[in-house]
Amino acid sequence: MFKSLFSESPGLPLQDPLSEPNPTAQTTVKCTTCYMCACRCGIRVHLVEGDKGPEVRYIDGNPDHPLNQGVICAKGSAGIMKQYSPARLTQPLLRKPGSERGAGEFEPISWERAFDLLSERLAHIRATDPKKFALFTGRDQMQALTGLFARQFGTPNYAAHGGFCSVNMAAGMIYSVGGSFWEFGGPDLERSKLFVMLGTAEDHHSNPMKTALSKFKRAGGRFISINPVRTGYSAIADEWIPIKPGTDGALLMALLHELVRTDTLDHAFLKRFTNAPQLVVLDEGEREGLFAFDPDPAKGPPGDGRNPHNKLVFDRTSGRILNAYPEGIAEGCDPALDAPPEGHYTLADGTRVVPAFALLRQRVLSCTPEWAQAITGIAADRIRLLAQELGHAALTQAFELPIPWTDAWGKKHPTTQARPLAFHAMRGLAAHSNGFQTVRSLAVLMSLLGTIDAPGGFRHKAPYPRHIVPNYRAFNDPDMVKPNTPLNAAPLGFPASPEELAIHADGSPMRIDHAFSWEHPLSAHGMMHNVITNAVKGDPYRIDTLMLFMANMAWNSSMNTMAVRESLNRKDDKGEYMIPFLVVCDAFQSETVAFADLVLPDTTYLERHDTMSMLDRPISEFDGPVDSVRVPVLQPLGECKPFQEVLVELASRLKFPAFTTAEGGRKFKGYTDFIVNFEAQPGIGFLMGWRGENGDQHLRGAPNPKQWEAYAQNNCVFHYTLPENMHYMRNWNRGYLDFAKDKGWRQRNDPVQLAIYSDTLQSFRLAAQGKTKGRQPPEHLRERIKTYFDPLPFWYAPLEDAAVDLKAFPLNAITQRPMAMYHSWDSQNAWLRQIHSHNYLHVHPSTAQAAGVADGGWAWVESHWGQVRCMLRYSEAVEPGTVWTWNAIGKGDGAWHLAPGSDEAHKGFLLNHLISEELPLPQGTGAPAGAKVSNSDPITGQAGWYDVRVRIRPAEPEEAAQSFPQVDTMRPVPGVRGGVAQVMRFFAGKSKP
Ligand code: SF4
Repeated sequence: MFKSLFSESPGLPLQDPLSEPNPTAQTTVKCTTCYMCACRCGIRVHLVEGDKGPEVRYIDGNPDHPLNQGVICAKGSAGIMKQYSPARLTQPLLRKPGSERGAGEFEPISWERAFDLLSERLAHIRATDPKKFALFTGRDQMQALTGLFARQFGTPNYAAHGGFCSVNMAAGMIYSVGGSFWEFGGPDLERSKLFVMLGTAEDHHSNPMKTALSKFKRAGGRFISINPVRTGYSAIADEWIPIKPGTDGALLMALLHELVRTDTLDHAFLKRFTNAPQLVVLDEGEREGLFAFDPDPAKGPPGDGRNPHNKLVFDRTSGRILNAYPEGIAEGCDPALDAPPEGHYTLADGTRVVPAFALLRQRVLSCTPEWAQAITGIAADRIRLLAQELGHAALTQAFELPIPWTDAWGKKHPTTQARPLAFHAMRGLAAHSNGFQTVRSLAVLMSLLGTIDAPGGFRHKAPYPRHIVPNYRAFNDPDMVKPNTPLNAAPLGFPASPEELAIHADGSPMRIDHAFSWEHPLSAHGMMHNVITNAVKGDPYRIDTLMLFMANMAWNSSMNTMAVRESLNRKDDKGEYMIPFLVVCDAFQSETVAFADLVLPDTTYLERHDTMSMLDRPISEFDGPVDSVRVPVLQPLGECKPFQEVLVELASRLKFPAFTTAEGGRKFKGYTDFIVNFEAQPGIGFLMGWRGENGDQHLRGAPNPKQWEAYAQNNCVFHYTLPENMHYMRNWNRGYLDFAKDKGWRQRNDPVQLAIYSDTLQSFRLAAQGKTKGRQPPEHLRERIKTYFDPLPFWYAPLEDAAVDLKAFPLNAITQRPMAMYHSWDSQNAWLRQIHSHNYLHVHPSTAQAAGVADGGWAWVESHWGQVRCMLRYSEAVEPGTVWTWNAIGKGDGAWHLAPGSDEAHKGFLLNHLISEELPLPQGTGAPAGAKVSNSDPITGQAGWYDVRVRIRPAEPEEAAQSFPQVDTMRPVPGVRGGVAQVMRFFAGKSKP
């Protein structure tokens, strides 16, 4: 491959295996999976044998991989420079006795000592008060293991980074349609005619999205991007519609208004496949706003205890109220979507009821395009036209595929209805304190047009769709936090009612991050962004040991970074750190490493085994489940050890039941053994390919001792293609539901009706209104729950707006992830640094000129919370009320082993300094004076990163041409690799590495 490329292009640069100095060395190629971002593309790593073992010379995309089909991006091919990063940690480190946290004074220790120290400390915590151990992970790919570790330890204090990433997108969609964008589902651009992308620049599904967009455009598809900023994918959009940050919900509500007003709806879909016709109780009391249902549990398909199916509809044909299933969908029935002229139907017991859709109709009545224009900045006429375009694509341009399928109630559909209107949305919608309801409004809009798991619309990826609500309850019983005892449920899950919250009898939070409490009830991914602040405040209690994996909490992963750094150093009256022991596991010398008491050096993705499994985060395609692995193509550098191995070792030493034999011995030799032999249920393990003793079974089967070898021989990926009649309509597809249950992807095979109306949200609201007998929120949170747990989508202003003088801070400020870098990882990458070594604040020329700041000039950006000094660039690709910058390019001086004074530290900056991590609770609600709550979505706890309001002013001429704030220079820790100049010289063809 490379030879032919080279011979056709003799002038190519010198980073080329043919230029390496030993012409007799053989190049070998090994396949594994990229982890330069979270897309998980298949890659081929080209190696030559060096003096000390194999060395990487080149990385390209694997053409035989289903996800990227050979495509590779700049980050992926620059993985070689991550491997040779000067910031690599190489040995376990212990903070020197008497040195201060943050000073970065460490002594190297052996792994044996590190394990001894850690297992002794953790054993004591586990035997006394397990909740005093907290495990929080960043961009972790193995939550099935990290979550299991926490559960077996017996601590509820576990989460990955989803709470500060995109939980609103996941939860808003899953609680509405049973699946979400990215790895759980996405736009079917192959069959779509109109594609609308909201709030997305660069994505977690980067290469596949770019490939699909290119084909879509070539096939004549129309692409509309709605975003405050025109970057990333939007560069090739046919139309960019600028919008003010945090207002997408208003636009979507106005689109709903127009679709309902003009009756641009998929009526048949709504009646059969959603809860739109189901009858909601109007009478005041504990049933108010919930669905009426037949109290006879024998009626209708059985529910699962959380999702009853015996709800009711009004049949317009017979004029009677019927059970929704199966009577309400029988041939000839016509469930009403609207209320009768008298405003309601009446049940036999006199209860007044109305179809859920009638309530939605009422809700959207006032959400006119003119109303939305004032909020979003988008002209009312453009909103009206957009609604027409959506309806035209979904309904007028609809077609049928000759694919017969049978629905959950036995009806045979001779064809599959296509709805060629696709959406995609990500963090731009999610990272606001109104994000959950905004995403709900998008999900409802997609449902009204019948685009869910339809050809050309949104399509699920196995194991999705899940139930609404998914059958995963988060651990919620404080009495079950016991010494030396695993939890009786996983720490994370999806609450379906107040009874499932993780709270104490007095309503106070059970977890250190306050997830699943009344403050943020549906925080399905936890709230990592609260951990350090809460732990230091002792709210609700103090912890002993915090273990962070791949999470740069002392820099770009925290709001209000400087306060978090100060918190990590804060001591109590006795001079003890408020967080007594901080363990940081990372492959690189991040800013957070300086604060660690114990540093555990992780490997790179090229040096370890990993699994992207169906029990966790697979890489499934629309046509079937796909799991994949990483296999080591290089030996670990120095004494680096994969974090997965560390966890299996600790779990074995601590004798967690799942890691210990009946005789008390060690159950798994290490991570690879664990992956092969762990079974979630008989025959269901992490990896679904090549199971059975001989490797001849797929999806389900006994453990195969040679399973890793089978993956390694097959491009590190297993792709199971479902029969065509299981490719669509999987919320209701009888064949798929049965198949998925049989293969362990679902607990039950009942259908997943779309939640136009959320009785789950209503159950929380009823509690807050004091109308139910069960758990009720504390007084000061009642109004909050009543307001935001609305069963119908609605738009409200981001919560920060109420805490800020909007005239004084008139601009919205947001960040985006650059295409060439992934979070904080890539400023240490010698090739990628040449693309971005520092960032600017991008501002519309009219806004910048009004503030008196020149293009390229230094400016102060101020929020109600903090200020930064940075360089500013004029840009017409941003709406005038918004300023933005690339995320995480700014670095602490000396961190990531960058030379002191590097551009990243002195010209680059973080917007995080402007973002407050807490907001005041409204007074007059019973909240104690000065009470604060996390600056997050009140429903899911998603961090409100994109809510910050700012103003800009020019820096004074006499001020330093340097970004502000600056931090003390981080000095190199013992054993950090260094040596980038040498590697760069080699790849420029000038020396040996
Ligand atoms: S998109 Fe992500 S996973 Fe794919 S090649 Fe690029 S960096 Fe690697």
